[in-house]
Amino acid sequence: MKYDAAVIGAGPAGSMTARDLARGGASVLLVEKRPEIGMPVRCGEATGIPGLALVNVAPWKRAVASETKGSYLYSPDGTRVQLLADSANGYILERRMFDKQLAVEAAKAGAEVRVRTYATGLVKEEGRIVGVKLKHFNDEFEVRCSVVVGADGIEGKVGRWAGIDTRTSLSQMASNLQYEMAGIEMDNPDVMEFYFGKNVCPGGYVWVFPKGDGCANVGLGTRDRNQTPKEYLDRFIAEHENLSKGSVVGVNAGGVPVAGPIDVSVKDNIVLVGDSARQIDPLTGGGIYNAMHCGRLAAKTILKCIETGDFSAAALMEYETRWKAEIGQGLLRSLRVKEALERMTDDDLNHVAGLMKNMSLGGLDVKELTTAMLEMPPELLEFIQSLM
Ligand SMILES: Cc1cc2nc3c(=O)[nH]c(=O)nc-3n(C[C@H](O)[C@H](O)[C@H](O)COP(=O)(O)OP(=O)(O)OC[C@H]3O[C@@H](n4cnc5c(N)ncnc54)[C@H](O)[C@@H]3O)c2cc1C
Repeated sequence: MKYDAAVIGAGPAGSMTARDLARGGASVLLVEKRPEIGMPVRCGEATGIPGLALVNVAPWKRAVASETKGSYLYSPDGTRVQLLADSANGYILERRMFDKQLAVEAAKAGAEVRVRTYATGLVKEEGRIVGVKLKHFNDEFEVRCSVVVGADGIEGKVGRWAGIDTRTSLSQMASNLQYEMAGIEMDNPDVMEFYFGKNVCPGGYVWVFPKGDGCANVGLGTRDRNQTPKEYLDRFIAEHENLSKGSVVGVNAGGVPVAGPIDVSVKDNIVLVGDSARQIDPLTGGGIYNAMHCGRLAAKTILKCIETGDFSAAALMEYETRWKAEIGQGLLRSLRVKEALERMTDDDLNHVAGLMKNMSLGGLDVKELTTAMLEMPPELLEFIQSLM
């Protein structure tokens, strides 16, 4: 069995890479260790509508739980900053269907998709990576390929097997916990809510993402180790009557690296994409769009390598140069803002919210807001700069 590319992991990064490679005429194997793509869900499921259009994905109706028109940001004293668009600019997805859709698109383009198939190691000859070892039930076998794409997420091992330093220290991992809740009421079911404060979620935030029909994803991500994420989340819910009368119908948890991107994402015959390359935004914890976008960039470079027959790190470096140029600066800026946010006291947060509550901010997302803040009134700008 010989392929141009073996893609490990059928999350958004892997399926997009496989889809675009197959559309470009490459022979592609896409393997996923789970028995069902998209399950279990470990995600708040929020993403921007413009981003999906940019990566050329029109989500299936059943892959979208609801559309959102912006966000309410709540400071510790309850001051509300409104980021509201005139029309829908975000989706709360059903990742179990969305991830499956992307894998289906890859399969329709000609990629061979295999579930319940673990990558267990790399095949090397004379030090060169020439394939990947796989396990399907008890069947262990090897496939040969010109390039292995590690799209195996935050716990991925492909990078490590290839000798790429993908380690993230425990202190740079946020612990995320989320409940899928039913039977709740929201002020505005078209708007995402974010809550900040030392007692709410130190160094992070609580999110309430409406999924329609009285359901919402209610979760948080924090690096604080004084209390568990569950203690913070349960207290937050108990303190909000509209949530406390609802039921938890699903729980998911996972780590999110908040260290910024890895230094090196390519080696001879190896490319890392998505969370495995830490392309996730360290401020918002959003990684769906970046994973898809970078998957497409990886596919573009690999298609060129297929033409030339050169899969060396130097040839694959085009991918790294492009993703760093296109999203790298944004990730580093988010890292700085996140660090500033962690230093802010509740009084600081209340002060900023007080200055912003009457501003007309349109439908900016939380990340765009950080850029926009730098062009705001001198008093606010000065204050923010003093924190950074
Ligand atoms: C609680 C939580 C909430 C989040 N909320 C949001 C949000 O609201 N919006 C947003 O944009 N992002 C969010 N994220 C981040 C987002 O989920 C990730 O950034 C995104 O899924 C990254 O996609 P990926 O394809 O790189 O990795 P993944 O989606 O993790 O996919 C990797 C795949 O590789 C498979 N795999 C791993 N190892 C192997 C192996 N050895 N062999 C075969 N298969 C393997 C895994 O099973 C998995 O399916 C959240 C994350 C968490 C934990």
